[in-house]
Amino acid sequence: MQRITILGATGSIGVSTLDVLARHPDRYSVYALSAHSRVEELAAQCAQFKPARAVVGTAEAAARLQELLRAQGLRTEVEYGEAALCAIAGAAETDTVMAAIVGAAGLAPTLAAARAGKKVLLANKEALVMSGQLFMDAVRDHGATLLPIDSEHNAIFQCLPHGYGRVPAAAGVTKILLTASGGPFLKRDVASLEQVTPDEACKHPKWVMGRKISVDSATMMNKGLEVIEAHWLFGTPAEQIEVVIHPQSVIHSMVSYNDGSVLAELGNPDMRTPIAHALAYPERIASGVAQLDIAQIGTLQFERPDFNRFPCLALAFDALRAGGTAPALLNAANEAAVAAFLDLRIGFRQIDRVIAHVMDTLPHGAADSIAQVMAQDAAARAAAERVIAGLTKP
Ligand code: NAD
Ligand code: MG
Repeated sequence: MQRITILGATGSIGVSTLDVLARHPDRYSVYALSAHSRVEELAAQCAQFKPARAVVGTAEAAARLQELLRAQGLRTEVEYGEAALCAIAGAAETDTVMAAIVGAAGLAPTLAAARAGKKVLLANKEALVMSGQLFMDAVRDHGATLLPIDSEHNAIFQCLPHGYGRVPAAAGVTKILLTASGGPFLKRDVASLEQVTPDEACKHPKWVMGRKISVDSATMMNKGLEVIEAHWLFGTPAEQIEVVIHPQSVIHSMVSYNDGSVLAELGNPDMRTPIAHALAYPERIASGVAQLDIAQIGTLQFERPDFNRFPCLALAFDALRAGGTAPALLNAANEAAVAAFLDLRIGFRQIDRVIAHVMDTLPHGAADSIAQVMAQDAAARAAAERVIAGLTKP
């Protein structure tokens, strides 16, 4: 029986994870769940999965959750705050941690899981982007197992030679081909992007996701973060990572080998596939995802990304090449800019301008400690807020 902690249980990935777990009560039990503010949803999950512990963001949310659980006669222990998140991630009573908090808030608990040597199922790409080397060192030094949940990285993992680790030279891998749907604005007139609304940006053609990652998909910053994520997960240099637009999202990514072979993982776009893969690895379990009917899909298309339409993708490649804390700056500026866009404080095309300004003006340095990374994260957020305050929404 694997005992699971889900960080970010009420989010899109958290809900999909619980859906898969519910199909296999003989294999998995839920040790702990966390949510930031959606207390009612968390209470309903506690009623169904009976975790020993539940963590929320604030004392008020904890009091409310406690009340809801007591009313149902549930004995789940309720806690709040970052230290409690780290505690449920590193607890001796859990084997596997699904890291599905969105953004930098997930870094400390995800790192706590790695440091406790857990099996870490990584959805929270921002944590790895911010602290790549430190995070991978923690995984290695503490004997943790890291399995990618991001569909592209899970696909790449499946297309690499069996067994996890940095890809050895003898494996003959020449390139990682990261596929991207292109998001909702792939074909839209570039000039009109100044005016798009948060709801238009969040209407992803293929995937249903949280609002932050949906905006990232519309700017293609999501793919940029995934390039950096692939670099750390697989040890691949920037020159060997290519982004390919593939609007059908049926191929979830590919790996090219020196003999001319290209391996791909295909499936219907549903996150329960990578979640089930990582949960059961190296075995396979049913995920609830319908089998792909390739003949019914008929056509698969590919094209190169247009960096003028998607400047965030170029900014991410620049940050990866710059190294050190540059990816942490990029990530923090992006989180601040996306939040401002979702709050109707800036326009869609101002997201990339805010990030570019922060990257141009803030010096990046060595990322030798989490304290340095967090200091750069805070500096980038403050710098982004100053830029945002000076902008007029179109
Ligand atoms: P979401 O917004 O739907 O859910 C986020 C979860 O994090 C919620 O449970 C929320 O309560 C929690 N949370 C938010 N802010 C928090 C904070 N400050 N402290 C603690 N908890 C907090 O997001 P999502 O779409 O499920 O994405 C989660 C992560 O998975 C992101 O890093 C995203 O990039 C990644 N991811 C998501 C998908 C997808 O299909 N949704 C695919 C690949 C990767
Ligand atoms: Mg992805």
